[in-house]
Amino acid sequence: MYRKNAWKKYADDNSVVMDFAEKYKHFLSECKTERLVTRYAIKLLEENGYVFADKVKSVKKGDKIYFTNKNKNVAAFIIGEKPLAEGMRILGAHIDSPRLDLKENPIYESKGFAMGNTHYYGGVKKYQWVTFPLALHGVIVKKDGTVVEVNIGEAEDDPIVGITDLLIHLSADQQAKPLAKAIEGEDLDISLGSIPLNDKEKEPVKANVLRLLKDKYGVEEEDFISAEIEVVPAGKARDYGLDKSMIAGYGHDDRVCAYTSLLALLDSKPGEFTSCCILVDKEEIGSVGATGAQSLFFENIIAKLAILMNDANPMWTARLALENSKMLSSDVSAAFDPLYASVNDPQNSAYFGEGIVITKYTGSRGKSGSNDANPEFYAEIRKIMDDAGVVWQTAELGKVDQGGGGTIAYILGNYNMNVIDAGIAVLSMHSPMEIVSKVDVYEAFLGYRAFLK
Ligand code: MN
Ligand code: MN
Repeated sequence: MYRKNAWKKYADDNSVVMDFAEKYKHFLSECKTERLVTRYAIKLLEENGYVFADKVKSVKKGDKIYFTNKNKNVAAFIIGEKPLAEGMRILGAHIDSPRLDLKENPIYESKGFAMGNTHYYGGVKKYQWVTFPLALHGVIVKKDGTVVEVNIGEAEDDPIVGITDLLIHLSADQQAKPLAKAIEGEDLDISLGSIPLNDKEKEPVKANVLRLLKDKYGVEEEDFISAEIEVVPAGKARDYGLDKSMIAGYGHDDRVCAYTSLLALLDSKPGEFTSCCILVDKEEIGSVGATGAQSLFFENIIAKLAILMNDANPMWTARLALENSKMLSSDVSAAFDPLYASVNDPQNSAYFGEGIVITKYTGSRGKSGSNDANPEFYAEIRKIMDDAGVVWQTAELGKVDQGGGGTIAYILGNYNMNVIDAGIAVLSMHSPMEIVSKVDVYEAFLGYRAFLK
């Protein structure tokens, strides 16, 4: 069988795997929001000679160009030899991750505490987010259009925030509840402070916190209405396991596939077909909205590419280009967890250390909502991976009736494009501390690069 342990490939020298992991850890630690991923990606693209699309008047084969959308999407291209209408080779990943967002009117005072009200984003097991060090990242946009960037909880001398949990001594009622009910969404409020402002009689602790925010960021309470503050796990990504074979961190889903896909593009040369890496937002809440995979953004920029190529019928060329494209939907897969073996079919599970995971279909309740890739296309992918010596495995998301999930694959599939999911196995997915295997991260990079060739 193709299935093997990828570490054996690097038995003599695994430094290439470990060095790649160091670069990825830096990226993951720096990029706790989709905006920060976008900015980091743009920096890497520009360092590698990619030019912002608004700055060019025309493109030709061999050119490297990128587009952005509302500070939350990036799409980068290397123009290939063949006409655009013959299709592209696309890697697509999402850069949003589950988290807690501050509400529009978040700050309140209760019994001597200033608190921050949150609304969780994406699928979270709420009990995992209490008694965990949290940081605040995001932007506050003032009425005059000034964008104030917020980052609290990462620097060594910064305070962190967090969500308290009931002490075990008084948890008789809570402990009797089902796990999903033990911590409710409205109870995921963060502690912001406890010192009262001396000359204030009404809500003095809240007033003091607002004073601190005004001093540091120049913002008023009302400015939180037009803000996007994400409450995320504080701290850097770390090596995990005594052998340092794994990485623990927040946001592997799906920044691990975003990073490896982007680096695969950066490491590629102009080829037969135009290569593309697109990073999208909002996957965790259904790929909706202007910056999600369902947005017309991608379709529009393909038409813009055609216009930059002086194409006589750019809209139709864009349609053909999308229909004739082939895509890896770069998204994470559920790793087999020996502590919870019963939720998986062992013969169709993703294992740590066995390389990039190719997933023919996702979905739940009988593949519902799944792209279910064509076997003709899957056969091509098998050949690409095997010819390039990439260690890969195939898996589906757990036992048939156990649950399920989705990716952006079906959305691009709607263009009549061949799409298959390909990504990295994750343990403790959607938790504040997700785990990946370093060798899987590297094999995914190799797999993505082989696909673009
Ligand atoms: Mn994902
Ligand atoms: Mn997810």
